[in-house]
Parts: sequence; structure tokens; C-alpha cells
Amino acid sequence: TELLTKPIEKIRTQMEDLQKADASISRIRALFETRSSIVDGPGATLPSGALGVKFDEVTFSYEDGTGEPTLDRLVLDLKPGEVLGLLGRTGSGKSTLARLLLRFYDPQEGSVSLGGTDIRKLKLSQLRNRVAMVTQTIEIMEGTIRDNLTFYDDAIPDERIIAVLHQLGLTSWYEAMPEGLDTRLASGGGSLSAGEAQLLAFARVFLTNPGLVIMDEASSRLDPMTEQRIEQAISTLLANRSCIIIAHRLATVQRADSILILENGRVVEAGSRTALASDPASRFSAMLATGLEEVLV
Ligand code: ADP
Repeated sequence: TELLTKPIEKIRTQMEDLQKADASISRIRALFETRSSIVDGPGATLPSGALGVKFDEVTFSYEDGTGEPTLDRLVLDLKPGEVLGLLGRTGSGKSTLARLLLRFYDPQEGSVSLGGTDIRKLKLSQLRNRVAMVTQTIEIMEGTIRDNLTFYDDAIPDERIIAVLHQLGLTSWYEAMPEGLDTRLASGGGSLSAGEAQLLAFARVFLTNPGLVIMDEASSRLDPMTEQRIEQAISTLLANRSCIIIAHRLATVQRADSILILENGRVVEAGSRTALASDPASRFSAMLATGLEEVLV
């Protein structure tokens, strides 16, 4: 009987593999289909300098329209040059809000505007040049340090890159690189420490000079020296720019002009930081009392 069961067993596992492959292909296709709705706008003029942001009753679901929306009639109004502290537990929709702002997806209802213009009217390159996303872990592309910091913008001179690295306290890191700015970094970042990765992400922002920064702050503990450098870098980063900070630490929240708290894709509290902090009934003052790290898990 083994003569018969062995080949049948083999065919069965092969069928399973094929089914799995088919399922992944459908997922990939679904991904392309969502992406394909994101098309370039005609290109509108954006003001230079800090850019304001408006979310007007934005409703969005990853699965088109079925079930609970990931963001539900979200309203947000950030004035140019202001800092918004975006708070909420894991899964509340903070990253989704950032993805909509960078137009990785379009909302099913409502609109997102930047500098007074609906972002669907902008060219994607224009939008992504003026809005920078600083994540906890810098996305390193396979390429040189220069390419990673300038995104292939040849107009940025080496002296400026080196000056920014110096300003961020990365001089000794840079000097240890065998071929200077031509040193290739492995994709994924390889041997970068968490602090260096965060500082390099800041270097990118300083060099490309966007009008809005979305910062997903590192929640990991860093050594005090690096922590201090990062604090200084954030101060420079915020000057003359609008900023949305997904904050994990109290020190960062204290920089915010206004606060927005998300819960299951809905705004449950919004307002000026000082007003919310001095209102004993606000969720924000409760968070400050308990400690952000404890609340925002
Ligand atoms: P946060 O950044 O606050 O942790 P997210 O915006 O990542 O929250 O997630 C909000 C909700 O959307 C969660 O329920 C999450 O599971 C879901 N979600 C996030 N990304 C996707 C995706 N690519 N496809 C489907 N659902 C997603």
C-alpha cells in the first residue's frame, strides 16, 4: 500500500502549497488594487515653510466599507507651525492617520488637506517631498550614506550633509565609516544602534527640509547621552515646521501645542495641551497622572 499512499500524500501537500500560493497571490493583487486608486493629482501650489493640516470628517476602512471603520469621521485642524501630540493605544489608528496623510490610501469619505489644498490635487512626489515621516526605525535602503540621507537629491552638497551629522552629534559615527559618505549601508541598517538610527532619520529631515513632519517617537529606552542629543535635535526639527508627534514620552508631549486622543479610530479628546492638562476631568490629565508609558500600551 505504501506504493500508493506515498504519491497520494505528495500530491496532497503539493495541492496545499498551491492553495497557499494562490492565497498570497490574491493578497498581493488586492494590495496592488488598493494602490492603483492612488493616482497623481494635477499638481497644485503649496505655500513654502510650515504647512497646516486638515482632516475633514475622514472615514476610512482597510476593507472597503465593511465592518467598523478604522478611522471614523475624524476631524483634525493643525495650524502651520504648530505641534500636535497624537495619543492613543496600539491599534487606535495613529499610523493609519499618518498613512492617509502620505496618501498610501485614500479615505472612503471626507478629505485630507495640506497647506489648504486637498492632497488628491497634489502630485505624489510633491506631497512626499513636503511631508516627512520619521519612524522609530529608520528605513535604510541598500545604498551609500549620502543616498540614504538625501534620497538621491544631487543638489545637496556633501558639506551640508557633514554639517548636519555634526550638528546631530554623529561626527564620530561618521568618522568611523571607511569610505565617508560613499560607505554603503546594508538595507535594514545592520549595525546601527537605536539612537543612531533615530538621529539619522532626523538628519534626513534636516536635509530635505519638509513643511510637515510626522514623528513616530522611539519608545525604547536610550542611553542618557543619546537621549539628550535627540531632545536637542527635536527642538531644531520643530522650528518653523508643523509637526504631528505620535508621542510615547512625557518630555515630547510637553512640546505639543494641541493634543488629540484616539480610541478605536475616533477622537475622544482634542484641544490645547495647557487647557487639557489643567482640566482635572480630562483624559489627558489622567494620562499625565498615571504616566504615558503605562497608559499607552
Ligand atoms: P496604531 O498606529 O494606533 O497602533 P493602526 O493605525 O496601526 O493603529 O491600526 C488601526 C487598526 O487598523 C488596527 O485595528 C489594525 O489592526 C488595523 N490595521 C492596521 N494596518 C492594517 C492593514 N494594512 N490592513 C488591515 N488592517 C490594518
